[in-house]
Amino acid sequence: TISMAAIDKAGRIAVGTSTNGATFKIPGRVGDGPIAGSSAYADDEVGACGATGDGDIMMRFLPCYQAVESMRQGMEPSHAAANAISRIARKYPDFVGAVFAVNKHGVHAGACHGWTFQYSVRTPGMEDVQVFTVVPSI
Ligand code: ASP
Repeated sequence: TISMAAIDKAGRIAVGTSTNGATFKIPGRVGDGPIAGSSAYADDEVGACGATGDGDIMMRFLPCYQAVESMRQGMEPSHAAANAISRIARKYPDFVGAVFAVNKHGVHAGACHGWTFQYSVRTPGMEDVQVFTVVPSI
């Protein structure tokens, strides 16, 4: 899965997800990719979140909607991302997945459970992408 967020110079924020759902795919499965708030969510007033992992579990929690709403309430992206993941892990301890969260100022963070997660960032002043590695917190 590739989940991506972009913030343009006018402050507009967009997200998208592309996945073949390979690991969890059965014929006819739609998955979490097209479910708003599950694998991606954005609000220009707040920020954005993207996800990857076991979509059949993640779609029950809308972790990206959760992370954006947490940032709206004042949480830093790192806390919002960790909180979204912990809400899932509490009910599904074997769950494997991750989210990144970015606020409208470009502050970003990731959180994961059951695996080590990497995400990359590029801002206009950077020559290349920078890769961030996130280790599971619980
Ligand atoms: N979330 C995707 C799915 O369940 C899989 C993935 O993120 O790799 O379809």
